[in-house]
Amino acid sequence: MEYMPTTAVWEVTMGCNMQCKHCGSRCKEPLPDELTTEEALDLCDQIGDLGLQWITLSGGEPLTRKDICQLIARLRQNNVIPNIITNGWLLTEEMLDQLLEAGVGSLAISIDGLGEKHDYMRRPGSFERDMKTLELMDRKGATTAVITTVTKGNINDLEEMYQVFKEKNVKLWQLQIGLPMGNLKDQSDLIMDPEQVEDLLDFMYSKLNQGEMKVYPADCVGYYTDKDSILRGMILGYDEPVVWSGCGAGKHGFGILQNGEILGCTSIRDRDFIEGSIRERSLRSIWEDEESFSWSRKMSKDKLSGQCKECMHGDTCLGGCSNTRITMQGDVYGENEYCAYSLRLKKCSKIIEQKEDKEELLATAYGLAKTGEYEVAKIVAEKLEALGETSNDFYSVAGFIYFTLGKYEKSLAYNEAVLKVDQADTYAKKGKGLCLCKMNQVEEGLRYIEMAANETSAEDMEPYEDWIATLCGLGNTEEALRVFEKAEEKQAGFIEKHQETYDLLKAN
Ligand code: SF4
Ligand code: SF4
Repeated sequence: MEYMPTTAVWEVTMGCNMQCKHCGSRCKEPLPDELTTEEALDLCDQIGDLGLQWITLSGGEPLTRKDICQLIARLRQNNVIPNIITNGWLLTEEMLDQLLEAGVGSLAISIDGLGEKHDYMRRPGSFERDMKTLELMDRKGATTAVITTVTKGNINDLEEMYQVFKEKNVKLWQLQIGLPMGNLKDQSDLIMDPEQVEDLLDFMYSKLNQGEMKVYPADCVGYYTDKDSILRGMILGYDEPVVWSGCGAGKHGFGILQNGEILGCTSIRDRDFIEGSIRERSLRSIWEDEESFSWSRKMSKDKLSGQCKECMHGDTCLGGCSNTRITMQGDVYGENEYCAYSLRLKKCSKIIEQKEDKEELLATAYGLAKTGEYEVAKIVAEKLEALGETSNDFYSVAGFIYFTLGKYEKSLAYNEAVLKVDQADTYAKKGKGLCLCKMNQVEEGLRYIEMAANETSAEDMEPYEDWIATLCGLGNTEEALRVFEKAEEKQAGFIEKHQETYDLLKAN
C-alpha cells in the first residue's frame, strides 16, 4: 500500500454542551446514529491494526461521551496515543484524573479570546472555567495546550491572549483560521481577510524562542514562506525549516464521523467525500481501496486553479489545505486564497508594476534568480518584456528563469534570441539543448548540450554537469560515464569532484 496512515481525527459524538458561533460541525444533541460503545471499541482495535501512531478525539464535545475513558484506554492498549480537543467545560479534576489514568495524550482546550469575547463565541462563564482548568492541568502535570480559531474578532487580541496563556503555563498554542463553514458561515463578517494571514504568521514567528510556549500554525496557515517553514520545523522538533508537503487527507491521515463513516478530513464532510462506513466494511478495506480518497490521492497541480496551478511549489504543496480551498472557493480544485506565498507574489507584483528603470529591474531579476525566488523573478522578467527590453543579458536571465519554472517553450525562445545575436554563447546553447530535451526533442537537445560542452572553457564545467544529469535522467548510464571521461580530459579532477555520482553510475 502506497499510503500509510499515522493519524486521524475522530469526531466521537455530535453532542455538545455549547453551540459555538464558529463550530464547523453545527453540533447540538448527540445524533441517533452514533457508534455504540461496542462498535467504538472495535473501531479502536481496527485503528490499532492499521498502525496509527496517534489520534485526535474531538466532536461535538468528546467529554460528553460517557465511555470516553474506555475508548482512550482501548486506544492505548492498541499503542495509539489518544489526544483530545475539548471545550473544557466538563474538564473537572475528577474527569481529568480519569482521563490521565486511562492514558490520554495531550488535552487541548479551545479558547477563542479573552473574557467576554470567548464567552460570546462559546458560553457565558466558559472563559473563567477554562482558566481554572488550565491551572488544574498544569498542577496535575498534564500538557497544557490551547487551540484558537482566529477571526477578525480576535486577531488583534493575540498578544494579550499570549500573555494570559503564558501566565497559565500553556505549553502549546495552535492557531487556525476560522473558515466559512458550519456556524461561522452565518458570521461572514468575522472571516479574516486573506492578507491577514501574514499578520498571523508574523505573530507566531515573533514568539519563536520566546519562552516555553510553542505557538504554531494549523494546517490551514502557510505556505512556502521562510516563517511558516521555520514554525513547522519548530513544532516537529527540528532546528531546520520544514516545508509544507501537502494535505494529508487520505494519505497519512483520515477522519471518522460519529457514525463510523470514514472521510479524508473531518472538516470536509460533504457526502461526496465519504469513502465508506465501518458498519459496512473494515477500516482497513476502506483505507486500502484504490478508489478511496481519490480526490486527494489523485490530486495534481494541473487540476488546481489560479496561482496554485502555476506555482513552483505546486507539485509538493498541492494547494495547501484542501478544506480552505473548498470553503473559500467552493471547489476542491480552487486556489488557496490564504496562501502566504501567493499573497507575497501579489504584493511583489504591485511593487514591480510601479518600476520603470530597466537597469534596476534587470539587476533585480538576476538577484532573485540567484536566490531561488524564481516566481518573483518571472514577474520582473514580464515587466522588462513589457518595457521592451531586448538586451542579451535580459534574454539570458529570462531563459534561465522560465526554464526553472518548467516553461520550456518560453525559455527556448529566450535562449534562441541570445544565440541570434551571439552564436558562441555556450550558456544559451546549453539552455536550448536542455529545453529541447524537456520538450522531447532529445536527440537535437543532446546535440546542443554537447556543442556547449565542447566549446566551454575548463573553468566552466556546467555544460558537462548538465549533460551528465540529462543522460542520467534518460537512464543512459553508459553514455554518462563516457561524458565523465571527456570532462576529466578537459578538467583534471572533475571525476573526483563528482565522485559520488561517478561511483553510483559505475556500480550500475
Ligand atoms: S500558491 Fe497554492 S500551490 Fe503555491 S504555495 Fe500557495 S497554496 Fe501552495
Ligand atoms: S483538508 Fe486541511 S485540515 Fe484537512 S487534512 Fe487537509 S490540510 Fe489538514
